[in-house]
Parts: sequence; C-alpha cells; structure tokens
Amino acid sequence: MPPLTDRVLMGPGPCNPYPEAVEALARPMLGHLDPAFVALLDETCDRLRTVFRTTNAMTLPVSGTGSAGMEAAFVNLVRPGDAAVVGVNGVFGARMCDVASRCGAEVVAVDTPWGRPVDPERLLAAHPDPRIIAVVHAETSTGVRSDIAPLGEGKGDALLLVDCVTSLGGIEVDVDGWGVDVAYAGTQKCLGVPPGLAPLTVSDRARHRLVERSPSWYLDLRMIGRYTGPATGARTYHHTAPVSMVMSLHAGLGALLDEGLDAAVARHAECGRLLQEGLVDLGFALFAAEGHRLPELTTVWVPEGVDDAKARATLLDRYGIEVGGGLGEFAGRVWRVGCMGHTARPRNVTLLLGALAELMAAR
Ligand SMILES: *Cc1c(COP(=O)(O)O)cnc(C)c1O
Repeated sequence: MPPLTDRVLMGPGPCNPYPEAVEALARPMLGHLDPAFVALLDETCDRLRTVFRTTNAMTLPVSGTGSAGMEAAFVNLVRPGDAAVVGVNGVFGARMCDVASRCGAEVVAVDTPWGRPVDPERLLAAHPDPRIIAVVHAETSTGVRSDIAPLGEGKGDALLLVDCVTSLGGIEVDVDGWGVDVAYAGTQKCLGVPPGLAPLTVSDRARHRLVERSPSWYLDLRMIGRYTGPATGARTYHHTAPVSMVMSLHAGLGALLDEGLDAAVARHAECGRLLQEGLVDLGFALFAAEGHRLPELTTVWVPEGVDDAKARATLLDRYGIEVGGGLGEFAGRVWRVGCMGHTARPRNVTLLLGALAELMAAR
C-alpha cells in the first residue's frame, strides 16, 4: 500500500471536511431504525433548517450527491407538459434544463453569458404562467452569484426552485426570507462534509403540490417523507439511510453552528477577499463579473505562458494543492479555485498564493 495521500482541496469541491465530520465517519454503526439513530437524524434535519433559514417541515438529507438533490426537486414537482423557466449562466443551469426535460417539462431556458448573473426580470418575463422558476444561486462553473430575493417577490403562482449546492454554509442563504419553495445543496461544498448527501428543503406550498407519483421510485419524496418525518412516531422503511454519512453531516453542521452561521459566512468572505486580492497582485485576471463574485469559488484566467495542465499538476504534486480546471468552452482557459468549508482558512490562501508565486517566478 502506498502511504495515505492528503491534499489541500481548493477545487470546486470536495473541500477538506471539518475534522468533526471526518471523526464522525468512524462512529459505531447503528441500524437506520434504531431510536438512537432516528434521534440523530431528526437533529440533523433541525440543523439543516437552521442553516437553510427555514421552518419547512420537509427538510432532509437526500441520499446521493448534490445532483440527487437537483433530481429529487424536479421529479417531485414537475409533471409532463409543465412549463419550467430555468436561468442558465453555466454548467449547472444547463444541467437543470436536462433534468427538467427528462421529466417532460416544457423547458424555457433563459440564457445568460457565462461569468454574469442571471437577470431576475428576464426570468420573470420568460413565460406567463410557469409551474417552476429554477435558478442556480452560486454557479460553480463560473464563480458567479445570482440574486434570489427578486425572484421570490415576483414569482406569482410559480414555485421557486434554487440550487444552493455551492452557497449553503458559505454565503447568505435565506430560504424563508427570500420566498424559496425548494432548495437543495450538497455536503462537500461549503458545508465541509464529505460528498454523499444532498440536503433538501420543501416549503409547505410546494409540499402540497408534489406530483402524485414521481417517475423516480428512489427519490419519491412522499415515500421518503414517511421515513424522515415530519416526525410522526412510526417510521416506514423506504431505503436504508446512509447512516455514516448522516452522522458525518450531523457533526459537520454541529461544527458550523458552533462557530455560528454568520461567523462562517464572514470567514468565507474574508478568505475569498484575501484570495482574489492576492491573485490580482500576482497578475491574474478574475473571470466573474464584479459585484457578483463568490468568495468560495474564484475563477481566474490562466495567465499567458502558463500551461494549464502542467501548472495544476505541479500544484498537486509539489505543493499538495488541488485547484479545478475550467468547464465547457473555458476548459484550459480558466482555473476554478475553491475556498469552502474547512478549506476556507487564511492559512490555505497564503499557501496557494505562495505556491503560485513560486510557479510564476519559475516560468
Ligand atoms: C457540485 C454542484 C452540483 C452537483 O453536485 P454533485 O455533488 O456533483 O452531484 C450541482 N449544482 C451546483 C451549483 C454544484 O456546484
């Protein structure tokens, strides 16, 4: 066996998990109907309500990564023929269109150039009576934040569905305050937990509009809800909960809430600022539109004369730092530098900036 490898994970996720989340993975196994586990699951859902800033009864960790949260949202709310307006300013908005169309939705994509936020006015004007308006809060392919509150104000009868995979735990998310009906996240981004669960929350308004029979058996929220609650006493088996991952999420959320949500958001903001200022000082140009840059995910143009693949391989091999490459038409042209969860510490920013300074000097 080669020695265990550890990295400073500064890509688009996974991040380095909080030590508490890692430690919890080694807890003794419990049955998924054991009262001790059910209590831990209930507390996990409560912690998720706090982090999402919601009182939604239906708030739970979906089994699977962030994409499972996306799919659960659509397969439970969209019927064939429903109009779904989707803001597309990167890879994950495009993925939403794919998922919605597989549910038979009439997808109305509102395209926006990569690197810019979606325009709420254009989304609201895109269809007279959509069932769903869907948008990515933090577009991880470009490092851009889009504004959610105006969509909640203007949504009318539509349900507002928001991808919070890269925002939850890293920047402000206010599900109830913004009028969001369905939001989902992923554990391995700013929540600082290994990949494997997709926290999901569904407003009462949306819960009453769940499709009668979801085309996905595994992600059927009516059936899953009979296991996860709202707690009613008896729990019905649907599928085995990923017990260790729930324990890890419980512990990671505990660490986050012990620090304080506002303090964690401030820490991500500080690290993002230090990183972005440091990169500019080194001569890098930032990619995302000013005023909408995510602190937790910074996109920079690969400088002239720097070989993308070679530079990232050197960062990994010599310095143990992972950064992400560009996606789509920006593959090879931009880097995506994450500073999420436990990775979001000034020490990691300093390490990366130091490594990049050495790399640039050796050109
Ligand atoms: C990472 C990500 C996803 C998908 O999550 P997976 O965990 O890779 O399945 C969806 N949306 C956004 C914005 C993401 O950053």
